[in-house]
Amino acid sequence: MIRTTIQSAIHQFETRNNFRLDIKAVLFDMDGVLFDSMPNHTYAWVNAFKEYGLEIPVEEAYMNEGSTALATARTMFKKYRNQSIAPEKAEEIKMCKHRIMDSLPASEVMPHMPGLVKAIADQGFDRWVVTGSAQNILIDRLEKEYYGLLQRNKMVTAHDVTIGKPHPEPYLIALKKSGLNANEALVIENAPLGVLSAKAAGLFTIAINTGPLHPHVLTDAGADLLFEGSEELFLAWPEIALFLKQHSCLAI
Ligand code: MG
Repeated sequence: MIRTTIQSAIHQFETRNNFRLDIKAVLFDMDGVLFDSMPNHTYAWVNAFKEYGLEIPVEEAYMNEGSTALATARTMFKKYRNQSIAPEKAEEIKMCKHRIMDSLPASEVMPHMPGLVKAIADQGFDRWVVTGSAQNILIDRLEKEYYGLLQRNKMVTAHDVTIGKPHPEPYLIALKKSGLNANEALVIENAPLGVLSAKAAGLFTIAINTGPLHPHVLTDAGADLLFEGSEELFLAWPEIALFLKQHSCLAI
C-alpha cells in the first residue's frame, strides 16, 4: 500500500517536472520536524499578541510558521484588525515574542527523528537543515542532539536569507551551497509555508503533520507525500529509501 503511494507520488512529481529523481540528500526543516518546538512558538505568539490587545487562534502560529517574525506581526494585525502596523510596532511585538520564548523550557527533540536521521545517514544520504528560525540556542543544539548526523556548515537559517519562506529562497540557497540539483534532494517539512517554499524551489516534499492543522492544508500547499506524524514517517522510511535507491539505479 505504502509502496504504491510512494511510487505514484514520485511518478506524478517526475511527470510534472520532466526530470528523474536521483536523491542524494535530505533537507530537513527544524521547528516542528527536528524539534518539537511549535508548542513554545505558539504559546509565545498567542501571549505576545495578547500584550498588544490582539487575540489570535493557536492555529495561526502553525499557519504562519516559517515566515519571519516581523511578517507574522504585520499579517496578524492586518487580518484581525485590518490595520497596517508601523515597522517599530512590528519590531516591538517580535521582541516581546522572543522574550516570552526565552522564558519557556527548552523544546524537546521530535520523537523518532534522531532514529530517522540516523537511518538516512546510514543509507548514505547527505543531510542539510533549512530553517526560517533565528534562534541560535536551538540551531546550536542540533549538532549536540543529532550528534554526528547534522553539521553547522550544512545549515541554512534565518541569518542566511533575506526573504524567507514561503519564498523558495532558503531552499535555493541550500541547493547552491550543497551543489545539489533539484532532482537530487528531498525535503521534510511540517508547515504549509515551508511546503510552499520547498515546492517553489522545485523539490520533492514530504510533509509530516506534527501540529493541530487539518492535513489538507499541507497537501493544498503541494506536499508530494503526507504522513500523520514523525512516527508514521519513521516507519515508512525504509520503504521510501529502498524505492529511491532502486529508482536512482534505474536512472543510470
Ligand atoms: Mg517547521
